[in-house]
Amino acid sequence: MTDQANPKAIQRVGIIGGGQLAWMMGPAAQSLGLDLVVQTPGKDDPAVAIAQSTLLAAVDDIAATQALAAQCDVITFENEFIDCEGLQPLADQGTIFRPGLEVLALVLDKRHQRECFDRLGLPNPRYTFLEGDESDAELGAKADPLGFPLVMKTRRLGYDGYGTAVVNDSTQLTATWKAFDRTPVLLEEFVPFKQELAVMVARSARGEIALYPTVETQQVDQICRRVLAPAQVNAAVATQMERIARTLVEQLQLVGIVGIECFLTPDDRVLINEIAPRTHNSGHYSLDACATSQFEQQLRAVCDRPLGPTHLTCPQAVMVNLLGLDQPDEAHHRQLAALGQLPQATLYWYRKAIRPGRKLGHITQGLGAGADPRAAAAAIEAIWYGQL
Ligand code: ADP
Repeated sequence: MTDQANPKAIQRVGIIGGGQLAWMMGPAAQSLGLDLVVQTPGKDDPAVAIAQSTLLAAVDDIAATQALAAQCDVITFENEFIDCEGLQPLADQGTIFRPGLEVLALVLDKRHQRECFDRLGLPNPRYTFLEGDESDAELGAKADPLGFPLVMKTRRLGYDGYGTAVVNDSTQLTATWKAFDRTPVLLEEFVPFKQELAVMVARSARGEIALYPTVETQQVDQICRRVLAPAQVNAAVATQMERIARTLVEQLQLVGIVGIECFLTPDDRVLINEIAPRTHNSGHYSLDACATSQFEQQLRAVCDRPLGPTHLTCPQAVMVNLLGLDQPDEAHHRQLAALGQLPQATLYWYRKAIRPGRKLGHITQGLGAGADPRAAAAAIEAIWYGQL
């Protein structure tokens, strides 16, 4: 069934997940006059502070989502680690999930994502997959066509590089799969990318599409460290990004917003790495540097409102993630105060318990046309992470 614009005005939005992504929807919901009801396990989760009401339950708790559906006109997501099969009866009884459960089911398993990219004719790294019962010889035979190095990824529940390992030779291959408990995995070619690119794209039930500028993302230890907007890419690369983004949302009939992460090869081919059918870290800069933030856009898309303009409101911007440091809490607060002195910068602190490596906040800085975004990001990181 395709999702049509709803004749009844949408007023109350249920959100599965109450982390920082839901928290950042708060101001947009207020300006659009929407009520947010959040399903999240922890009473201290960031979005509890901005929700009209909260159902304290795990994101895959079906009974809680049933209660959420009873209170809301539409349900959307900030966390995709849900129980799609369990939710299907609710959808069959008329609960509107945006994006639809078929899109969520697709992204929950990296194999299904890749097979979908292939079906849609969208370029992605060469891959194969293991089910878990392969012998060492079969493992070697499957890995052989990919060559070394290759990348092993758990098919389900991986995030921020957890569940991803680079494998350099056959000895490591056997050892790594053992370390992964021989779970079902994706094996893919290691892409010697020259840049990692990302783009956000929103689509409404009426089929309106709003595409954000392509950005460059840079990861440290497989976690996004900084985003440079816009990415410095040539017109042919920008066209490939746009084709991928439009094809995906149109072919999946996606209603909502999706983050698309890609590799740019040395010969300027764009390969999709993965998609996230919700707001995304690579789109945080839009809060301060785009005409409509990704959070407002998600709400607009799922509530049948016209989509907003997506252009940059300053020539360039950088976003730096503030990950937990291996230091006492006070040190974090001292560093935050120092970041607060930076010009044209906006700080977001998610008020989560501080743990080393955890995403605790981010900062966006708007830049003029002549500024060097890498130098600006390095200056921010020198304050937060120390001299690098
Ligand atoms: P997760 O789903 O945990 O975020 P990703 O698949 O996005 O994992 O991988 C995290 C990071 O690891 C990527 O942003 C990239 O820097 C690196 N990476 C992942 N796959 C590959 C690959 N095939 N080739 C080279 N680097 C990769």
